[in-house]
Amino acid sequence: MSGGAASSGGRIVAPYAARRETSRGRRYPEPVSEHRSEYQRDRDRVIHSNAFRRLVYKTQVFVNHEGDLYRTRVTHSMEVAQIARSIARALRLDEDLTEAISLAHDLGHTPFGHAGQDALNECMRDYGGFEHNLQSLRVVDEIEERYADFPGLNLTFEAREGILKHCSLTNARTLGELGQRFIERRQPGLEAQLANLADEIAYNNHDVDDGLRAGLIEVADLRDVRLFARHHDAVCAAYPELAPRRMVHEVIRRMINEVVLDVIDTSEERIARAGVASIDDVRAAGGGPLIALGAALQAEHLALKRFLGEHVYRHYRVLRMTTKSQRLVKELFEALFDDPRLLPDEYADNARAAEAEQGKAGRARAVADYIAGMTDRYALLEHRRLFDPGERT
Ligand code: MG
Repeated sequence: MSGGAASSGGRIVAPYAARRETSRGRRYPEPVSEHRSEYQRDRDRVIHSNAFRRLVYKTQVFVNHEGDLYRTRVTHSMEVAQIARSIARALRLDEDLTEAISLAHDLGHTPFGHAGQDALNECMRDYGGFEHNLQSLRVVDEIEERYADFPGLNLTFEAREGILKHCSLTNARTLGELGQRFIERRQPGLEAQLANLADEIAYNNHDVDDGLRAGLIEVADLRDVRLFARHHDAVCAAYPELAPRRMVHEVIRRMINEVVLDVIDTSEERIARAGVASIDDVRAAGGGPLIALGAALQAEHLALKRFLGEHVYRHYRVLRMTTKSQRLVKELFEALFDDPRLLPDEYADNARAAEAEQGKAGRARAVADYIAGMTDRYALLEHRRLFDPGERT
């Protein structure tokens, strides 16, 4: 291979992109495919997984049954993938790997969004805790059952590295090569850095839309946020008669566009300055992620995030739902942990086997896996089945 560029699935990627030549491979070696790149296969495996399909009925911020137009985990993940792919193409990164990580990043999320994960983490306090990022990795490494030859989806190291975006040091120490970067405070590849940032860009913008739709915030409140106000002014000046819905979408569209263009420019500059010539150079580069927003827009984006934290995620109507779902997750956990015989057969078997090996922590992990895999509506139904004598079991 010459000239510093390599072909990946028919496209030319930059030398600092993830490439087959520099890949750390899969946990279980497999023959290469004639028609698909390794990262394309990763992406395809994610799409066909059970956990991906379940994202349809998992909460992003608004519980699924509150309305059909709100983002769910699956539409959120697709928006992340869309934003990340656009940037990946501009930066000549591997688009398939970027998409694979984006679509997989939330596979380990519990029902009821962050409320569910916090509750499960509390339940698991004495048994190693629960981190949704680590759970996403567990889903692709262990939980999915789709292959005769190995557990999980057997994704490439680069995809797994991207999926595990945060990790406590205690857990990192148990993860071998994959955990090493948290201990050494090193960066993952650029595709992973990008999927991580695209996640933030996606939710900061779509939660404006969902927050407005839910009536938790109003355009007048959002005008306190500079990023929003700037684009709102521009749209109002250009289209004074525009109907409110279209106005909002036009503003959000412009916000995303500005942020995306800024990420492309800033990252190009940082990559050039760091002089990285391979994914391992990227991993070793100091001074924070190379995929980033410029300082000015970063500050505005952060202000938007803070606004959403205060006015959307901590709105009393959201908090009521948070409290209810945490209570429900805890009750599910306690009932099933106290008496694992109440678990469906397959999960009860898992719990028994895990307990024989690791004691109570094994039992707790099996129960947590069961609960984490639930969709919102399945969790609600399972709760009724366990607690309401009038419900069929
Ligand atoms: Mg996400």
